[in-house]
Amino acid sequence: MSKRDYYEILGVSKDVSEKELKKAYRRVAMKYHPDRNPGDKEAEDKFKEASEAYEVLADAQKRAAYDQYGHAGVEGAGGMGGGGFGGGGFSDIFGDVFGDIFGGGGGGRGGPARGADLRYNLDLSLEEAVKGKTVKIKVPTLVACSPCGGSGAKPGSSPTTCTTCGGHGQVRMQQGFFSVQQTCPTCRGKGKMISDPCSSCHGQGRVEETKTLSVKVPPGVDTGDRIRLSGEGEAGADGGPAGDLYVQVHVREHEFFQRDGKNLYCEVPISIFEACLGGEIEVPTLDGRVKLRVPPETQTGKLFRLRGKGVSSVRGGAPGDLMCRVVLETPVNLNKEQKDLLEKLRDSMKGKQHSPRQESWFEGMKNFFGDMKL
Ligand SMILES: [Zn+2]
Ligand SMILES: [Zn+2]
Repeated sequence: MSKRDYYEILGVSKDVSEKELKKAYRRVAMKYHPDRNPGDKEAEDKFKEASEAYEVLADAQKRAAYDQYGHAGVEGAGGMGGGGFGGGGFSDIFGDVFGDIFGGGGGGRGGPARGADLRYNLDLSLEEAVKGKTVKIKVPTLVACSPCGGSGAKPGSSPTTCTTCGGHGQVRMQQGFFSVQQTCPTCRGKGKMISDPCSSCHGQGRVEETKTLSVKVPPGVDTGDRIRLSGEGEAGADGGPAGDLYVQVHVREHEFFQRDGKNLYCEVPISIFEACLGGEIEVPTLDGRVKLRVPPETQTGKLFRLRGKGVSSVRGGAPGDLMCRVVLETPVNLNKEQKDLLEKLRDSMKGKQHSPRQESWFEGMKNFFGDMKL
């Protein structure tokens, strides 16, 4: 049998680069791949021929031998004993070239594929996230078709074993010296054929349905937490196992509180009188209002810690704290009398040590400009 020239088979010139060679092989291989030409003997032969050509030309050593001696140069080296080329190298090339064309081979081994996992975004208020709750959610999904029980075959009939692969889903193909395992082109790896498809699912074994599910949200969840509902994802094709449903928690912003792990933060405005004289103010917590003692001469921005008034983690442990930041509010809408009183107060404080921070700040500023020799 006279063999065609390897370069001619792949439609490339003798000085083809490695990259161009791979491209050319992909083009030819995709065209004649058995998955795309089921039952076409000529395409199968062309596919084998191209694979063999690429096998040789992709290897610098073998390519050199082929360039010098032609087919004799590489056949002699290979032999039937399994030495020479082949072995690990071939599958490497194969995986490399086909990985991105056929999605990594997509083998049909190990029974029907598992259904896809689903994700559901669940919005919760802070209170709901902290206390936990059971929510009903509606999830559009694929469920096993009930008339056929997911098999895809008309009720009363059942899928038959694929005669091409004998139910294995894989066939062995001879390629030059090598026997390569491939997805069965007849059943596409399923190992079964449906001659009489179910009319409800058209042989798919799955139908679209909106499922209503009850999700138990444990207390303490936070944005980014996921709750897994095992087996509530899409049903698998051909009666395969269902995937999982992941409920992704997102906690909405709260009017008063910011959450940071187990701690809560809030800002509480206080008047100049409470700040100066001290007093009791009311602060919000998730369990209602509590009183907070503000000592006299409290500065704005001071943080008060209320132990245990934070949040318990979903992972357990002691609850965190509530951190209250008091913010001094400047009085507005003052009348003449009030302004007079304030002026009186100001005059009485003049020249005395009532604002240590302001004084040291001005002192610092003086030094700063002094250093600059202004
Ligand atoms: Zn088959
Ligand atoms: Zn069905």
